[in-house]
Amino acid sequence: MLAHGAPSVAVLGALAPYQPPTAGPWLRWRARPEQGAVALTFDDGPEPGACEANLKLLAEFELPATFFLIGEAAEASPELVDAIVAGGHELACHGYRHEHHLLRSPSWVRDDLERGVAALARSPHPPRFFRPPFGQASSASVRAARALGLELVLWSAWGREFAETDDAAVLARLERGLRPGAIVCLHDADTYASPGTAARTRRVLPKLAAALEHRGLKATTLGALVGSRP
Ligand SMILES: [Zn+2]
Repeated sequence: MLAHGAPSVAVLGALAPYQPPTAGPWLRWRARPEQGAVALTFDDGPEPGACEANLKLLAEFELPATFFLIGEAAEASPELVDAIVAGGHELACHGYRHEHHLLRSPSWVRDDLERGVAALARSPHPPRFFRPPFGQASSASVRAARALGLELVLWSAWGREFAETDDAAVLARLERGLRPGAIVCLHDADTYASPGTAARTRRVLPKLAAALEHRGLKATTLGALVGSRP
């Protein structure tokens, strides 16, 4: 599916009271800048082949990251989930199925999140963060995430590598968002995106590592960037 939309939270019913995204746990798209770091996040995995190649690159460039995994994909490839954990990375929930929440019932959404979290049971820690598929959350998404103790996360920088055909355009788009506290969204799977997405991400990753170094920014996991729960 190509329809990864811009980050958005649909107001379908009463949302939780607004809190600043850098301070409140219910929705984040960036974090505090004090650490001089950015969080690298990868959506839509784990996908055999793409995941191993991505992990190899992350190890080579010493880039810790957070993987927002799809539950059904995690269940299909438990060895990849273990490899991500063994690489020192963080696991997070991207839902059990890669489906829009906007037209789904609250019970469907709650069931999907519960199954998505259960699929990550191999993690040494329960997942803390949830990113809704397509970056689109309904009030049901917000309520289900809260009920399960998950913090809703979007992003502040992305490359749209699932839609771009030009690597330079992907990198340029990413670079525009590189600043302390940025949450960088990347994709390391083709399963729920367009063919070539994961390969495009891999080609851009070394250049992204160089861009971070040039700006004096370090990469870290989302949990490390955000800090302990309030
Ligand atoms: Zn996705």
